Amino acid sequence: MIQIGDTHSSYLIRDESLALIEAPHPNEAGELIQGLQELGVRPQDLKYLITTHIHLDHTGAAGHLARENPNLIVFVHEWGAPHLINPERLNQSARRTYGPKMEEIGEMIPIPESQIHPVTNGDEIKLGKTRWQVIHTPGHARYHICLFEPKEKILFAGDALGCLYPDGAFFIVTPAPDYDQELSLESIRRLEDLKPELIVFTHRGTSRDKTLFKEVRKQHRLWVKTIETVLESTPDAEVDEILEMIAKYVPVVRDFPQYPSFLLNIGGIKRYLKKKKER
Ligand SMILES: [Zn+2]
Repeated sequence: MIQIGDTHSSYLIRDESLALIEAPHPNEAGELIQGLQELGVRPQDLKYLITTHIHLDHTGAAGHLARENPNLIVFVHEWGAPHLINPERLNQSARRTYGPKMEEIGEMIPIPESQIHPVTNGDEIKLGKTRWQVIHTPGHARYHICLFEPKEKILFAGDALGCLYPDGAFFIVTPAPDYDQELSLESIRRLEDLKPELIVFTHRGTSRDKTLFKEVRKQHRLWVKTIETVLESTPDAEVDEILEMIAKYVPVVRDFPQYPSFLLNIGGIKRYLKKKKER
């Protein structure tokens, strides 16, 4: 595990081939490389980088790693692959989402097509003794994948099951433009069916708690229902007003008010509810 900043982690799998899971924000590439060095690994030693999806906190530094190591192969869902070859749209949408904070995050640089290996549901990534199944898990993002190792039953969940922080905060992540409740619940059901023994979160720890799936489902229903009710009475409410209004009803918002991603959650759910109405 390589902890980056306060909010996310990358993970190194040591098998015959060395694979890194997740690459943090572009400006955190140096921190990532330093973290690898502390584990005795140079970027050139990595054979693969596997990213669960193309949000900048999961793939941001991929281009920097690919530049350091021209033999590195980057696994990404096939729908995300074109955006890594030409990251302009990703950078644009991140600028819209993060505004001035984008200075801190940095911009993605392109990855040569020859270094990208697109994957899809059911593919297998062989690292040596371990083989990792690719599970397409849309809901948080349409091109989101999880990785599952069936012998030890280890699941890399990306953002599909939300965030779990050392302070005990556990919450779903439902950003615009893709968040979709039905797809999320369907993906969660498929992950639960795998009966994982160890669940690994990008944000940011691990868990062996099997009741977690129930809690995730409960949160998707509670967040969406509560925001829907607020919007029925106050259709023009802005995200920060909505945050204040839902704190009474959504325990994690009340108990951990310091997490800024709640505002992104509300934006994503607002957009999802609007799309649902238009269907
Ligand atoms: Zn994400």
